Amino acid sequence: MPAADVRGLLPMSDCMDAMAAVLETLARGDAILPLRPVLWLPERRGALGMMPAYLGDAGVMGLKAVSVFPGNEGTGYDSHQGAVLVFETGNGRLLAIVDASEITAVRTAATSGVATRALARADAGDLAILGAGTQARTHLAAMLVARPIRRARVWSRTAANAARFAERESAVHGVPVEVAQTARDAVDGADVICTTTAAREPVLLGEWIAPGAHVNAVGSSVPFARELDGPAMARARLFADRRESVLAESGDFLLAREEGAIGDAHIAGELGEVLLGEIEGRTDPDEITVFESLGLAVEDLAAAFLVYERALARGAGTSLELGGLRADA
Ligand code: NDP
Repeated sequence: MPAADVRGLLPMSDCMDAMAAVLETLARGDAILPLRPVLWLPERRGALGMMPAYLGDAGVMGLKAVSVFPGNEGTGYDSHQGAVLVFETGNGRLLAIVDASEITAVRTAATSGVATRALARADAGDLAILGAGTQARTHLAAMLVARPIRRARVWSRTAANAARFAERESAVHGVPVEVAQTARDAVDGADVICTTTAAREPVLLGEWIAPGAHVNAVGSSVPFARELDGPAMARARLFADRRESVLAESGDFLLAREEGAIGDAHIAGELGEVLLGEIEGRTDPDEITVFESLGLAVEDLAAAFLVYERALARGAGTSLELGGLRADA
């Protein structure tokens, strides 16, 4: 299923509902989700991530095979490319092959949308986005669904990219997006902050974050890169998409722990546990909350399965005969 079809079949608000449901499934223990193996090219120029998962309630298993090439910025290619394979679990038949760029772009922001709905103050209306790439674009869309956004600011390392982003996205959403000259200016007084950069060093410092803000920390999914500094992590009540993934993969978390800013107990819990009411989310209007997003294969699988079901219902997509039958049957 190509990206353009996926786009039409996966509106942000529907994907947010699907992500809330799958995080609950995960928290209930009705999913299998091994940590992802990552194959790195020499000098970490690019990587191939292999992300398998099983969802008990849906009766599907799958795999996202995704290349990650941060150097694709400024080319016509997305930095995340590949496919999500969806299998049924009766006979192990391959049901669908779905474009991974679009699934990744939408499901990541949708999950941040779920986190924002659960953790941001109800009146949070001042949004800051750090970064101006694919995730910045989808995060703006998700935040507009999650909260009544009245002000939006964007900052990016390359000022021209932020300006292009602001002009394009203002027109798409009919909401003015302001360009901030520095990351600090962008987040000053913001209620919701989305960090969506491929930075390796912090772009968000704890001292800049206003009391009561909610942060979706999205851009770092590897142990050696971070967007938030130690004080940003230490000041916040911290939620994981998955505890095990944060402890293994999150540079924001691991580098802050290495500096002694936080310990493992600093993770208050998983977003799915908050959604199930098993742990408390925000406990005070002045509390800072951080949702640490690593990106989970269950999210890809649930989004791709939703796209598959909708494609079947609407006659979209292309049918392929890939075999799988015994030659002597
Ligand atoms: P894009 O290539 O579309 O955008 C990258 C952005 O990062 C650009 O705005 C770029 O700024 C900025 N950037 C790159 N290097 C630096 C740096 N050293 N310092 C500050 N900013 C920098 O990528 P995506 O939007 O697809 O992904 C963004 C990040 O999110 C990546 O790190 C990616 O791995 C991660 N990601 C996380 C997911 C999750 O589930 N948590 C899922 C998908 C992606 P500019 O071009 O203006 O200089």
